[in-house]
Amino acid sequence: MRRFTVYDSLTREVRSFAPIAPPRVGMFVCGLTPYAEAHVGHGRFAVVFDVVARALRHWGYRVFYVQNITNLDDKLIARAAEIEEDPLALADRYAQSWRRLMTRLEVSSVNYYPYATDYVPEILAQVRVLIDRGYAYVAEDGSVYYSVARFPEYGKLSGQRVEALRPGARVEVDERKRAPEDFVIWKAATPGEPSWESPWGPGRPGWHIEDTAMTGRLLGPRYDLHGAGLDLIFPHHDSEIALAEAASGEAPFVNYWMHNGLLTMGGEKMSKSIGNVSSLEDAIDRYGPMVLRFYYLNAHYRSPLEFDPPRTLDEAKEAYARLALPADRIAEALDRRAEDAAGADLPDTLADAAEALEETLDATLANDFNSREVIALLFGWTRRMTEDLPRLDAYSSDALEELAGPYRWAEEVLGLFVRRPEGRGGAWANLVPVLLEARARARARGDFAEADRIRDELRGRGIRLEDDASGTRWEFTGPE
Ligand SMILES: [Zn+2]
Repeated sequence: MRRFTVYDSLTREVRSFAPIAPPRVGMFVCGLTPYAEAHVGHGRFAVVFDVVARALRHWGYRVFYVQNITNLDDKLIARAAEIEEDPLALADRYAQSWRRLMTRLEVSSVNYYPYATDYVPEILAQVRVLIDRGYAYVAEDGSVYYSVARFPEYGKLSGQRVEALRPGARVEVDERKRAPEDFVIWKAATPGEPSWESPWGPGRPGWHIEDTAMTGRLLGPRYDLHGAGLDLIFPHHDSEIALAEAASGEAPFVNYWMHNGLLTMGGEKMSKSIGNVSSLEDAIDRYGPMVLRFYYLNAHYRSPLEFDPPRTLDEAKEAYARLALPADRIAEALDRRAEDAAGADLPDTLADAAEALEETLDATLANDFNSREVIALLFGWTRRMTEDLPRLDAYSSDALEELAGPYRWAEEVLGLFVRRPEGRGGAWANLVPVLLEARARARARGDFAEADRIRDELRGRGIRLEDDASGTRWEFTGPE
């Protein structure tokens, strides 16, 4: 297992990582509240933590990665009422669309996407323990609240004081609470909303306790790594700590807290409630998953990332095309070549450089997941490879494999350079080989008008053809 460091939001320092029970690593990331289509901001946390899990596995850890789905909350219920759909059905619909987008984005590392409402028994058990231990109380209407004053360390993650949970002077204080900072962990049922039976009457889970009940069951009372966007530190994660440590009597609840910076549009957090959103699906349709992953990873995960369409993704598309060109050419040269066809070996210096680079890539990523610097190193390799492109066909398969090494590393760990049809132009790309054959036949019989028509049709779909001595190659460049 490779040693690595990670910035821990709780201790506010870069710490060397040590799992509770190596080589196993329990990892939890706050996922979606699926009441609308996912936006480009959601893609960031998904890709950032996908790379964390991929890297850990590459380094020999056995990661169990859980990303929850908050399939019931106030916003979701309000949205469902608006469009007259059952809230749980609405959530299920958008959760499934999220899973499809994750497949398209090559986010392949998540082991389990549990729904909050599948953990109601665990939630009720935790509510019961918190009441028994004196950390929670039942209000008149059957709601249960967490008593923040009972947990003096409340706010240790964010550094916020409990006063920040108190409503401003103009806001009416909720009479059911003993103190304004107390938060609901079991919400008494409102007629017409989904509810479950409980010892305190019918109701539904509060938000924060969904995570701690779920992780208690799936990862144990203490686990290794909790990730999410920066905006969830307060009050969500501070509340999770208060719930879990009070319920289990064990601390620390989580050993490493990782938070990614926010994606902003016009300097403000991209958020459905603000209204400055851009659809993730549209972005994948237009640019392909590789360009999006490149865009997210070409920034340090803790930095804010501005999204300014279409400039940002246009730039990312151009830069990624430059970065990936030799990777594609090497892969194509390998495709053309019989397994043990004769060819030149790599010069020693180049072979050594490829091997040394892979080690440097690992070491760089192991320094608090600095994917931006990793990509800079890959650009260095691409510059070197670009000079070598004319010689590719002279090399042996082994030599080509060595040249491909750094790109293969990045494919496994960063999920870049993936050569699936989706990565190169969506479902349409599946038709490309068929159309290329039709075009070749048209040319063979002298029907150049038909050949050009096929070429133009493909170009309209963002697929550009290039004819040379070795045949026709194609590249997904995006719609023009
Ligand atoms: Zn959460």
